[in-house]
Formats: sequence, structure tokens, C-alpha cells
Amino acid sequence: MPPLKVQYVDLARQHAPIKAELMAAVGEVIDQGQFILGEQVSEFERRFADLCGVRFAVGVNSGTDALIFALRAVGFKAGDEVITVPNSFVASTACIRLVGAQPVFVDVREDYNIDPTRIAGAMTARTKAIIPVHLTGRPCDMDPILQLAREKGLHVIEDCAQAVIAEYKGRRVGSFGTIGCFSMHPLKTLNACGDGGVLTTNDSQVYERLKTMRNIGLRTRDDCIMWSPNSRLDTLQAAILLVKLKYLEQWTELRRKNAHYYQSQLAGIPQLQFPTEPDRTKSVYHTFVVQADRRDDLRDFLATRGIGSAIHYPVPIHLSTAGKELGYSEGSFPVTERQAGRILSLPVYPELKRTDLDYVISAIREFYQA
Ligand SMILES: *Cc1c(COP(=O)(O)O)cnc(C)c1O
Repeated sequence: MPPLKVQYVDLARQHAPIKAELMAAVGEVIDQGQFILGEQVSEFERRFADLCGVRFAVGVNSGTDALIFALRAVGFKAGDEVITVPNSFVASTACIRLVGAQPVFVDVREDYNIDPTRIAGAMTARTKAIIPVHLTGRPCDMDPILQLAREKGLHVIEDCAQAVIAEYKGRRVGSFGTIGCFSMHPLKTLNACGDGGVLTTNDSQVYERLKTMRNIGLRTRDDCIMWSPNSRLDTLQAAILLVKLKYLEQWTELRRKNAHYYQSQLAGIPQLQFPTEPDRTKSVYHTFVVQADRRDDLRDFLATRGIGSAIHYPVPIHLSTAGKELGYSEGSFPVTERQAGRILSLPVYPELKRTDLDYVISAIREFYQA
């Protein structure tokens, strides 16, 4: 294999121009010594809440913990069911099992997001919540989801891990449901230098519970009011995130520009499909996912040209080793399963230059002789 000419991710390229700023922020935390729930954490939470257009945000250790806490915060009894999708990252289902509830999957649309027309058919008397996943950074079609949730009195917990500042009809994700859950994993679009997560809510009681939950159930230093793990956002990570927040809008615009360039340049190739953006939504392109004929051959071919790519995700959750206990089988979710064999994520990060994109595009054209 030749050295990669266009890596799938390249964090060094993101960090090089802001390294001095990051080091200064880290240095400040080390000098202060407030490593646990220091002022940078509450500052980050305030800014993040503003960014999403909600009243409150709570920083935690990961997006996975954010999802677990969100479900715990709304309360579950054994046998309760949660509707979500089988094509997501495993964490959006793991959280349901980890609070003792039962995941009920519905299939997705061609845009990789939950198909709202299938939700009603999956509801039972035990349905308690819906977890729409804004996969790839594209907001789900929220109006019909919220309408159903209102009619049936269900909580909506948004999995926003891939979609910070994505917009649906003028509002940002994380502001629609009871709670929004975000990840600051290094590969997400607002990324820490390590693990991190954050929850958003407009409900002050939920906010108080989440703050207690992430801190071993301690309401005050000496009063533990519930059993809970330790899952706080590190002050160091909050300081890093505060630096990166300044660039988020600009980076997101560059991602969008890269995605729109791919969309315009790859549009004429019949062997490739990808969603375009509907009116009044703003996708943030955590990933740029095409569906490709002969996907694995294309991926290998791109690798020989020094182009990195990825598959998000090759194994639908109901067909994973852990997911077998959910009782589904091959054929349960035809759209998800067909897509799993065809999807390919192309590099789309903000630091890519037009020449990088042209190189990827010409390699794809060469492969299909298009
Ligand atoms: C990354 C991700 C998560 C989990 O976030 P972590 O911070 O890695 O725990 C959950 N859901 C989705 C859709 C994700 O992409």
C-alpha cells in the first residue's frame, strides 16, 4: 500500500493551527489545579446550552454515559420499551439494555434516519420513549416524531452524538426532546482530546438529576441521594472544548462545503447514491456516506490510491453478537441491512483542500469508469 494521500481522519491537521491555544488552555488548568468540575466545565456547559438553544447542559464522561443518564433521568420500570433504529452506533441501543429496558427497532429511510411512518406500528402499551439518532449529522424528520410522542405521552431522547449544531426547521438538535445526548469523542465534530459527552435539556428538574447522577449521586459533598457512577467531564477536556467551540461554526461550514462539493461532483455516477439536503434542514456531515455498488471493491481501490474510507456501520445492531438476544434476525430490517452492504464514508473533514476532494472524486470516477 502506498502512504495515505488522503487519510480518512487527520486530527493532527485539525490541531496544528490551534496547538498554541490548546496548550495555553491546558496550562491554565494545570496551574489552577481544579481538575474535577473546575470553572471550565460550567463555562463549557453554559456555552453549549446557548449553542443548542436550550436552558441547561451537563458535561459527562462520554456520549454513551449521556444516553444512559438520559434514560435513567426519565425513569424506567422492567419491561418498558424504547423505540430506536438498528443502523446506529451500538451505544444508542446499549443504553436501553443497561437501564433494563427493551429496545424495539424500526427501520430507516434512504437518508439513514428513523422512518417516522414506521414508528406507530412499533408502539405497544409498554412504549416509554423514542430515541431518534441524527445519524451522519443529518437531523431526523422531527415533526412527525414529536407529534407521535405528544399523542402517546412518550419521552423523546435525541442521540445527537454525530450532529452538534445540526438544524431542523430553524432549531438545533438537542432542543426538541426531553433530553439531547452528545459525544465529544475525538472523532466527533466537536471533539475533546479524549472522551467527553454532554446532555441538554430545558427541564430544571431533569437538569438537577443529571448533575447528581454524573457525580456519584452526591447532591452535596456529604449527601448521596442515589446510587450512581462517577462520570464527569474533565476540566482539562472542558478547557480544550472551550477553545474548539470558537471554531465549530467555521469548521462545520467547511464540512458542509466539502459535502456539497462531493454531491455536485458525484451526482452523475449511477452506481452511487447519497442523500441531498431537504429544505429547512442543515446537516453537519459528521460523515459523508454514499451507497455504492461493489462497495468493498471500491473501498480497496481507493486504498490502493492512498485514500482512506470507513464504514458506519458494517454490522446492524440486531445482527451483532450482543444484539442477537434482542430476538430479531436477518431480514428483520431490510433497508438497514441493504445499506450495511453498500454504505461507505468518504473523508469530509474541514481541513481537506479542494485538491484532496478532486483526488478522491477522480479515483471514484476511475473505478466506475464514469
Ligand atoms: C459516538 C456515538 C455515541 C457514543 O459516544 P461516546 O462518546 O463514544 O460514548 C452514541 N451514539 C452515536 C450515534 C455515536 O456516533
